[in-house]
This record gives sequence, structure tokens and C-alpha cells, in this order.
Amino acid sequence: MSNIIGIAGAGFSGAVIARELAEAGYSVEVHETRQHVAGNCFTERDTETGVMLHKYGPHIFHTDKPHVWEYLKKHTEFMPYTNRVKATTGGKVYSLPINLLTINQLFEQTLSPKDAETFIANQADKTIGEAETFEQQALKFVGPTLYEAFFKHYTIKQWGVSPASLPASILKRLPVRFNYDDNYFSHPFQGMPKHGYTPIVQSLLDHANISVHLDSTISKDDIKKYSHVFYAGPLDGYFGYSLGRLGYRTLDFKEFRDTGDAQGCAVMNYCDNTKPYTRITEHKHFAPWEDHENTVCYEEYSRDAQPEDPPYYPIRLMDEKTLLTQYVNLANKESGITFVGRLGTYRYLDMDVTIDEALQTAKQFLATQNNQQEM
Ligand code: UDP
Repeated sequence: MSNIIGIAGAGFSGAVIARELAEAGYSVEVHETRQHVAGNCFTERDTETGVMLHKYGPHIFHTDKPHVWEYLKKHTEFMPYTNRVKATTGGKVYSLPINLLTINQLFEQTLSPKDAETFIANQADKTIGEAETFEQQALKFVGPTLYEAFFKHYTIKQWGVSPASLPASILKRLPVRFNYDDNYFSHPFQGMPKHGYTPIVQSLLDHANISVHLDSTISKDDIKKYSHVFYAGPLDGYFGYSLGRLGYRTLDFKEFRDTGDAQGCAVMNYCDNTKPYTRITEHKHFAPWEDHENTVCYEEYSRDAQPEDPPYYPIRLMDEKTLLTQYVNLANKESGITFVGRLGTYRYLDMDVTIDEALQTAKQFLATQNNQQEM
């Protein structure tokens, strides 16, 4: 049998596993269906303006895992960056995540942290026990006014369904703060790679034991060519969609250009239903240490992914959960393959979690191999 490891997908999952196994002495072949590495984290400098573009939408690195932060720092220089999101709703601009400024502006109050906490607790729906849906979670924690202003319509645009049919877990990603801290993330480590994300993945893959094949894939029939395969492509795609397709939301970006500063911040969410897009990102503000005369913005539109579209967000409603279980049962019957990452496991994963899981997967694989050798 071949002693080559096959990896399908050159995003963070595939690249980290490739690197770890290459360093342990394995020969690794990485096959990537796209014409570039880095998956949806792909960044590229715009030839006209020089602005670093997040081609598949904004990616801000943040983590609470020191080992992931240190690991990535070996492959990039992180520049200080704090994600401070603004939101337009009802014809006014607010600060996100919901914080004391948002509350005081929306309700035209001058509340202190303690008063705001009591005020919001009084708005909250106390009849809701354990919140199961996004809507229940929002009504239970912030009440109807904040829900209407910031979550309801944005979520309908983002997910294409009522918040009453989405899981509460989606909203649990966002904090509500009773102070003026407008850092979108609560993690201690946050930053933006100085030269974008693509060079990080290129650096991970830059190893004598790794070969990278673009516009290429590993199919079910190819598995026997390898001693083991790590598959970061779509789980349903591996099985030829034989049971049906797992649902994804995809994003369309409508680009516009301007001189100077178009919106004054990197991310402006449009939380009511007066605009069809969820947000506008102005890419040069993701690199505040750079100076560009002109600017590039993306209006972001979300819709159900068709077979030819890049998959972004796994929908994971009840139908998909049932189908996922069926695919997982199929996957468990396969040997010589491990399904990894956002597409391989059909989960909504942040970059740091993806990297952490990839490190653990590589470690476990190496431990199993060592055990087998010792036996
Ligand atoms: N969300 C919202 N209003 C906002 C921002 C987020 O309703 O202004 C909801 C929306 O359903 C979204 C979820 O909260 O999918 C998680 O938001 P996050 O910013 O983490 O989404 P991401 O940046 O991953 O798209």
C-alpha cells in the first residue's frame, strides 16, 4: 500500500493537517478543487487600488486558545485589529454588539450599567424557559424592541427563514454588554494577518514533504491510492450526493468602488428590511495600518446555495440534521478516511476552532500510527 497521505481541501483544516504530518515525516498530497489555496479565507490584493480584499467575505481572526494563536504566529505577523461593527436600523446608526451605547441610543436613555441591566431584564420575556429557537433566545434575553431592531430582519436575510425555526445557538455567538465595550469578540487574542490569510496557508503548505495540486480533487475511488485520506470537502459530495444535498447558504458580493472613505468603518450591518443586503464591508478598513487613496466595498447578499455555488453557512435545520445523521452513518462505515473541517463535518466553525481541531486530528492520527508500530 502507498505510504502517501491524501488531503482533500487546502483551507485551514487541510493545510494544518498537511503541515503536521509532513513535519512528522509523511509525504502528503493536497488536492484543492479551486484555483487557489486558503478556502473561504482567501485574500488577494486588488490590482487597481492595492487594497487587500477578503474575496469570500470578512475574516477576523480571534481566539481564546493561546496555542492556536502561537501556532499561527509562526506563519504570519498579526497586526493589532479589533472588530468594531456598526449597524444601521430604522434610519439611524448604532454600535454592535449590543452594548450600553446601543441601548441608550435606541431607547433614548442615559442608563448606567446597573440600570440598563434592570431595564433590559424588564423588556425580556420571562415566560420562556429553556430557549430552543433563535427567536426565543432573543426575546428571553433582550426583549422585542432590540430583537426587532437588530436581529429579526438581519437573520431573515442571512438565513432565509424565520428566526422561530433557527436554533438558539446561532444567537448565542453574540454577546450583550452593559458597558461601552464595543469589541465584537470577547476573546483575548485578536488580529489581522499583515499580508492577508492566503500567505498563512501558503506558508503552512510550504514544506518539502507536501505537494499541492490545484483544480484537483480526491474522490471515493481514489482513497485506496493513499495510506490515509483527510477529507475537508463536502461530506455529501464525497458520497455523490446519493442521499440528497445538505443545505448551505451562499453569499453574493456586489462590489462598488469609491474614492477616499466610503462608509468610515470595515463592517456596517443593515439590520432592518429596508436594504436587501445584510452588510457592507469596506476592505481597506481591515488593514488600518495601510494607506489607500481609493476604496473597495462589498454589499453582501445571502441566499440558498445551488450545486454550483461555494457553500458558506451550513443551515442545520431539522431536515438537514436528519440527512446529516444518515451521511455520518455512511461515513462511519468507511475506512482509511477522516472527515474534517467545516464542509467535511457540516458545522459552522470559526477559524480558530478549525485550526485547533485540525491540530488535534493530526495528533491523534500520529499517536495511532505510533501505537500500531509498537504492536
Ligand atoms: N445577527 C443579527 N444581526 C446582526 C448580526 C448578527 O441578527 O447585526 C445574527 C444573524 O442571525 C447571524 C448571527 O447573529 O447569523 C451570528 O452573527 P455573527 O456576526 O457571528 O455572524 P457571521 O459573522 O459569522 O456571519
